[in-house]
Amino acid sequence: MPHNLTNRLENIKQKIQQAALACKRAPEQITLIAVSKTYPASDIQELFEYGQLHFGENYVQEWLHKRHELQHLPIQWHFIGPIQSNKIKHIAPHAHWVHAIDHLKTAQKLSQYRAVTGSDLNVCIQINISGETSKHGIPPEDVIALAQEVQKLPHLNLRGLMCIAEETTDQQTLTLQFAKMQSLLHQLQTQYPHMDTLSMGMSSDLELAIAHGATHVRIGTAIFGARQIKKKTP
Ligand SMILES: *Cc1c(COP(=O)(O)O)cnc(C)c1O
Repeated sequence: MPHNLTNRLENIKQKIQQAALACKRAPEQITLIAVSKTYPASDIQELFEYGQLHFGENYVQEWLHKRHELQHLPIQWHFIGPIQSNKIKHIAPHAHWVHAIDHLKTAQKLSQYRAVTGSDLNVCIQINISGETSKHGIPPEDVIALAQEVQKLPHLNLRGLMCIAEETTDQQTLTLQFAKMQSLLHQLQTQYPHMDTLSMGMSSDLELAIAHGATHVRIGTAIFGARQIKKKTP
């Protein structure tokens, strides 16, 4: 199996490169986040040793265990799951990125618990781009107001926006959603030119996301294989 893991990573890296070149973007502009939730620390270590630096996790307890096990490695940790208020004190000091902010209160608490580290936490605001009630994230029309507030908080660096597109194979629907994300970021950039991040694109829709400006793609199953069903408690 070890062999397969690095092969699959290599396949995804090639897909990203081809998708970037197809829309005349530099492949280096796109960061691959290997989403390792439910997979063991040994898989992460193997990919890290192969050169993969960025890993995404959703479940706080699970992540803290793996992080502890791998603390000798300079891994860049992206917390990409929904954020429960009582877990923020564990997330804020140890993550390099938090992708799914959708409440000002969450950002305020992250800022408060980040203060001890002396470095800023990179954060993104999650947009509910499909409008599905099952999805986290704020409606697109609320983004300016929330960004304005988050941007003022110390110890956070608001880098941009994140979304999970609709689970559909309909390219037109996906195109509309990714294009809307891209235009929201452009809108923010007129006021906050330092914002540079669009975290979107997963195993099934990474090409389209890259065509619409994705800077961070989050890939799980295409690298690690299908996950066992896991209870949704983070
Ligand atoms: C699990 C997860 C991913 C990866 O999804 P795959 O379908 O396994 O590629 C990406 N983003 C978020 C927010 C996730 O929770």
